[in-house]
Amino acid sequence: MPTPLPAPYFVAASARAAALVGLDAAHLANSDFVDFLTGNRVPARSQPLSAVYSGHQFGVWAGQLGDGRAILLGELNGPAGPMELQLKGAGLTPYSRMGDGRAVLRSSIREFLCSEAMAALRIPTTRALCITGSDKGVMRETVETSAVVTRMAPSFVRFGSFEHWYYRDKPEELKALADYVIYTFYPELTAEPNPYTALLAEVTRRTARMIAQWQAVGFMHGVMNTDNMSILGLTLDYGPFGFMEAFDPNHICNHTDQQGRYSYANQPQIGHWNCYALGQALMPLIGDADDAQEALAVYQPEFARTLDHLLHAKLGLATEHEQDRALFDELFKLMAAAHVDFTRFFRTLGKLKLDDPAADAPLRDMFIEREAFDAWAARYRERLRQEASADSERKTAMDAVNPKFVLRNYLAQVAIEKAQNKDYSEIAKLLAILEHPFDEQPEHEAYAALPPDWASHLEVSCSS
Ligand code: AMP
Ligand code: MG
Repeated sequence: MPTPLPAPYFVAASARAAALVGLDAAHLANSDFVDFLTGNRVPARSQPLSAVYSGHQFGVWAGQLGDGRAILLGELNGPAGPMELQLKGAGLTPYSRMGDGRAVLRSSIREFLCSEAMAALRIPTTRALCITGSDKGVMRETVETSAVVTRMAPSFVRFGSFEHWYYRDKPEELKALADYVIYTFYPELTAEPNPYTALLAEVTRRTARMIAQWQAVGFMHGVMNTDNMSILGLTLDYGPFGFMEAFDPNHICNHTDQQGRYSYANQPQIGHWNCYALGQALMPLIGDADDAQEALAVYQPEFARTLDHLLHAKLGLATEHEQDRALFDELFKLMAAAHVDFTRFFRTLGKLKLDDPAADAPLRDMFIEREAFDAWAARYRERLRQEASADSERKTAMDAVNPKFVLRNYLAQVAIEKAQNKDYSEIAKLLAILEHPFDEQPEHEAYAALPPDWASHLEVSCSS
């Protein structure tokens, strides 16, 4: 059962998430809803539960973890199909270990905004319905106030949910979990010779695709432990995530991750590693190691193919040539050397005029080695001419895949600081902007700006 919080209040809601479960976001601010969504009152037919799971954290087996502060209220059947509603931060559970079962307002705002921003970027993700808050203090590095995020997903089952029963040597429970997941979420796999092998292959494929999408928008998860990997291939558990700003492939967004295990450049191989951990856990059901290897071998080609498509789209290339890889590599090398802002570069590249290199200033000024950029731009132009690319069509196509607005840390920080002073308007404003990341929104130009100087001191860690 959730533990009530004193005098809960409404903080923010996502109308889009609400629509998925047939709710009107305007109603969520009503005191009845605030009570339900804080866990102060439990809906009549709800049987709350927290799930057990285990996992590998930073590459090391961590044993039992589980929903230490997440409580599932049940399922709502709306226009998007059945969705589980989960309260994150609703108090102690049997799996709270050393934790207090609570979430702070700061990290709840980050999870809420990023879940909805990722969905608007068309990246598979769990959703966030709303945030409620309470002035009850919780201790982190300093005392902060508490909040509850209501998350939604068809399922919150993780790779670590399977690892749990495997390492406990409980083959029946392992099979029951796998059968539930296959029957409920992958029914087409029941026809396969070995549905468990097919499950591993399909989850591996989805994971590879999801991570390729992360790379293409510069999203860094920050804590890709196996307990944070969704069996549905959804981006799950937003903590110390970040969006790439000054491009550095070795960027580490999580201050706690000193080795950089989950750096931008490492995410793809870590995704594969995590699929291996899932494969290991499924071995009692798969039986044959070669079959598991074959399923896992789906990862690399799926990732490469997806990222390749996405990069072509980012550069406005309608066709694919073998030499394009070199064009991409050279660009990323130049971007890294000059710490070019990832989001702003690709958005600005869409404005390039094929026959007017003299108009490249906004682009070339982002680079230190301007001649090197000019040389790259010449190759790029040549490549565009090969496919008779038209400026205005290309710009439209590029604007549809290169977001103008992403959840930069400093934008979230501004919303957090205002909210900590009880002004929640910036959360709603930022949400509205991030719901249309590909639109020009000239009135919100400032939200597409480079981070201010003070933002370079921002650190995000696992503390949430
Ligand atoms: P994370 O790395 O944030 O995904 O969390 C790892 C594990 O720690 C999960 O099992 C969480 O449920 C648990 N956890 C994190 N914060 C708390 C908290 N404040 N109280 C209880 N459990 C927590
Ligand atoms: Mg987690």
